[in-house]
Amino acid sequence: MSSLFYERKNGFDNITEEEKAKVFSFCEDYRKFITDYKTEREFAKGSVEVLEKAGFKELSKFDSLKAGDKVYYVNRGKGIFAAVIGEKPITEGVNLVGAHIDSPRIDLKPNPLYEDSGIALFKTHYYGGIKKYQWTTIPLSLHGVVVKPGGETVEINVGDSPSDPVFTISDILPHLAQDQMKKTLGEAFTGENLNVILGNIASQDEDVTEKVKANILKILNDKYGIEEIDFVTSELEFVPAFEARDLGFDRSMIAGYGQDDRVCGYPALMAVANCEKPERTAIALLVDKEEIGSMGNTGMQSKHFENVLGKLISLSVGNYNDLMLRECLTNSICLSADVGVALDPSYPEVSEKKNSAILNGGLLLNKYTGARGKSGASDANAEFVAEVVDIFNKNDVKWQIAELGRVDLGGGGTIAQFVANLDMEVIDCGVPILSMHSPYEVTGKFDIYMAYKGYLGFMNAGR
Ligand code: MN
Ligand code: MN
Repeated sequence: MSSLFYERKNGFDNITEEEKAKVFSFCEDYRKFITDYKTEREFAKGSVEVLEKAGFKELSKFDSLKAGDKVYYVNRGKGIFAAVIGEKPITEGVNLVGAHIDSPRIDLKPNPLYEDSGIALFKTHYYGGIKKYQWTTIPLSLHGVVVKPGGETVEINVGDSPSDPVFTISDILPHLAQDQMKKTLGEAFTGENLNVILGNIASQDEDVTEKVKANILKILNDKYGIEEIDFVTSELEFVPAFEARDLGFDRSMIAGYGQDDRVCGYPALMAVANCEKPERTAIALLVDKEEIGSMGNTGMQSKHFENVLGKLISLSVGNYNDLMLRECLTNSICLSADVGVALDPSYPEVSEKKNSAILNGGLLLNKYTGARGKSGASDANAEFVAEVVDIFNKNDVKWQIAELGRVDLGGGGTIAQFVANLDMEVIDCGVPILSMHSPYEVTGKFDIYMAYKGYLGFMNAGR
C-alpha cells in the first residue's frame, strides 16, 4: 500500500506486550471504578478520593496559587473542576479536558410511590435519550439522596451489592403482546409504562387502605428514617444493577452501564491526577446534565466554569480584572471528551463506513457533531485539528477521525458548542461506543487507554 494512504486499523495489531499490559491494567481499574461509582454524585465523590490521593487540595485551602499547585473544586456534589497550575501565566490560556459524568437513567417523579393491584410501585420520569424497551425486565438499583428539611442528607444505594434486593420494570408476555407487537417501538413503550416494582407484602395495620404501600413506607422509615413527603426533597435514580464486565473471549472490550460518558471522564480524571508541572495550566472538568442539554447550574451552559477559572486567575495574579478571564478563555484550548459512535457490524446501515469509527481503532476525533447539515455543531477549526493531531502524534497516541453516523439519519450534540461559546478552541475527542445510551454499552480497551494517553499529552502540551 502507498504510504500516501491514510488507513485505520485495530490498535491491538502490532501492539507490544508491554503496551498491551498497560492497556489491560488501566482498563481493569476503570472497570472497577465505574462499577463502584454509577451516578454523577458517586463519580464526583470517587474523583475526590483519587485527587486527594494524588496531592490535590480543595480550592478554599489556597490563599494564592503557583506553578505545580494541584487544586480541585466540587460543584454541588455533582461536578469536578481539577487543575494543575502551569509554569506559564494562566492568562495565556489553559488546556482543558471536559467530560460529563451524568448518564441516561430512570429518575423518580416527585410523588412516586403508589399501590396498584396489590403491588407497590414508583412512578418515574426517564432522564436523557433512551430506547424505553431496553430498560424493562432488567435488574435495577436505586441510588441517590434524600435531603430532609433542616439539611440532613440520607444516602441511598440499594441493588448493587450481591446480598441486596433489586428492582425492575415489567413488560407484556409475548403470548398477550399481539397488539403491542403491531405498534412502533416508540409507541409500544411509553414513559408512563416505566413503573418500577417495589413490593408485594401487605401491612397488618387495619387502619390503612393501601396496605402494600404502607408496608414499603414502614420499611423505608425503619431503614432511612424517611416519610412519603421526603421524596419531594430527594434525587433518586434507577440505574442498571449490572457490574461492568470484560467482554469477549479475548477480553478486548468492556460492557457496562453509563460508559457515555464515564469512559472519557475516568481517563480525564486519571490524566489530571498524573499531570506534573505542565507548561500551561491543565484542567479536567467533569460536568453534569449533558444528557438533558447541559442545562442547570451543574451543566456546561452555567457560568460555573468561568467563575472557578476567574477564582484561579485571581489567586494566581493578585490584581484580578475581568479582562484577564476573557483573555484566558480566548487563549484556551479544549478537548470535549465525549463518546462517539463505533461501526456496528449488525447495523452498518446507520453509518457510512469510510467515516465511521472502528472499535479499538484508537482515540476518536469528531470535527463536528450536529444533525442535518451540521446544524447545532461546533465545527472545529482546521488549524486546531492540526494542533491536536500533532500533540497526539508526538505522544504516540493512536487516533481516528469519524462522523456521528450517516448523513441525515439523526445526530447529537456534546458540551463542545458551549465551550466554543466561551471563545475557546474545542474539538470532540473520545472513545467510540456500541449500544450508546443502552443499559449495557460496549467500549474497546485500547481506545480507553488511548483516551488517557491523549488527554495527558494534551494537558502537558505547550503552545
Ligand atoms: Mn456523552
Ligand atoms: Mn449521551
